[in-house]
Amino acid sequence: MNEAERRGPHAGETHATRRRDFGILTFGAIMVLALLAATSTVGILEWLMGSLVMISGALAYYVGSQTITPAAAAAAAAEAEAAAEPRPQAPPLETSLNPLIQSLPFPALIVNPDQRLSIANEMAMEVFRLNRDSGLLVTAAIRQPDLLAAFIRVAKTGAGEQLEFSGHSEGQSWMAHMHQGPRAGSVLVILEDTTAVRRAEQARADFLANASHELRTPLTAIAGFIETMRGPARNDKAAWDGFLEIMYQQSERMKRLVTDLLSLSRIEFSEYRSPSTRIDLTVLTSSAGLSLQPIAAESQVRIFLNETDTSYSVIADAYEMQQVVQNLAGNAIKYSSPGGTITISMGQSRTMAEAPAACGRQIDGAFRATLLAPRASAEVPAVWIRVEDHGDGIAARHLPRLGERFYRVDESRGGRIEGTGLGLAIVKHIMARHRGGFMVESLEQTGTAFAVWMPLIPPAPAE
Ligand code: ADP
Repeated sequence: MNEAERRGPHAGETHATRRRDFGILTFGAIMVLALLAATSTVGILEWLMGSLVMISGALAYYVGSQTITPAAAAAAAAEAEAAAEPRPQAPPLETSLNPLIQSLPFPALIVNPDQRLSIANEMAMEVFRLNRDSGLLVTAAIRQPDLLAAFIRVAKTGAGEQLEFSGHSEGQSWMAHMHQGPRAGSVLVILEDTTAVRRAEQARADFLANASHELRTPLTAIAGFIETMRGPARNDKAAWDGFLEIMYQQSERMKRLVTDLLSLSRIEFSEYRSPSTRIDLTVLTSSAGLSLQPIAAESQVRIFLNETDTSYSVIADAYEMQQVVQNLAGNAIKYSSPGGTITISMGQSRTMAEAPAACGRQIDGAFRATLLAPRASAEVPAVWIRVEDHGDGIAARHLPRLGERFYRVDESRGGRIEGTGLGLAIVKHIMARHRGGFMVESLEQTGTAFAVWMPLIPPAPAE
């Protein structure tokens, strides 16, 4: 870039113009004063002084042009040029923010200083049950007084606030994060769904309350008998045998509870770590069934194992899968009457999606509930295990709740059969870890069948 270019065209023009003007002014001043002198209007001294003043004025005008730096001249020229060109209009703030707010994966909205809705994404419209009327008064749509008060404070002060509030649907909760919006007095509201966190907290609190209640009941009974044996029945040795028997039963109940609680917590702890061992589910199921023969015999119940020649391979935790069969078959024995029979059967399905029809729809007219939907792909081959009894059956209204911790149908039957209400919850968690499914079908006065299914893998190559 040469000097002329660097200075810009207008800078050069200014100097040339002023130099020319200086010449004209000086010449004009001398001529005017010469004319005045010639007409004897002024003396030679005045003529000389006048000339000096006018020439120095013209000189000052010229020198002034030198103080206009090339850079300033260039800037002025650029400014003038820019002013001459039509300036592109900036889009309104709402238009530029709208795509951003719409693309957010959580509810978000901006409210104008006049408290009318400016922008909202679909999720926010749904949470506040707003309709697509951009002039909507948001303060009328917020039904929670605390939230409304916080919202108005943020609009006034511009200081951010957070507040949790209940959603329209049962048990739903939201955390509103409110900040000053893009204009003074406007508010940006972002909502965080806290429903799952609150539910988990509630479940934990319920679990603790239930566990302590379940443990306290037998403990209170044991403590009561000890008190009696040390006090009023101190010398009634004949009564002691009866007391000791009840104390033994209660301590056994506590032992079962603690064992089940530990099992549950261990399984929950490892639920998100997939098992990695290949096992033969056919062998495991028949050995688990056989191990229950003595208990079945004690209850005068017969176990039939529908033996299969096929070896079903799965990736599983052998101890946990054994627990599944034992819990289901143990319940079948427990809830059967003497002389009853239970059947343990196995089979395979072309896909996981087809398995429930094969293993869970065998009792005519039965009611059914899926207690766990599998996480595994619906397209992979499946193997299933079904445990069926011919006991009293379970009323349809209870079926969907089986598998909840501490849920016992038997409570309503007067608690005649001992149990913890944790056996089916353990089965459900184990099957979740194995990406399997779990269902029940039952008909009162006919019987109950529980079934589990999981991905089947090709058999191990022969050694
Ligand atoms: P529990 O220790 O009480 O047996 P579970 O979690 O194993 O706890 O079972 C929950 C409830 O489901 C039981 O209390 C019982 O009422 C019902 N139940 C489970 N299996 C059967 C079955 N085979 N027949 C009838 N009712 C059953």
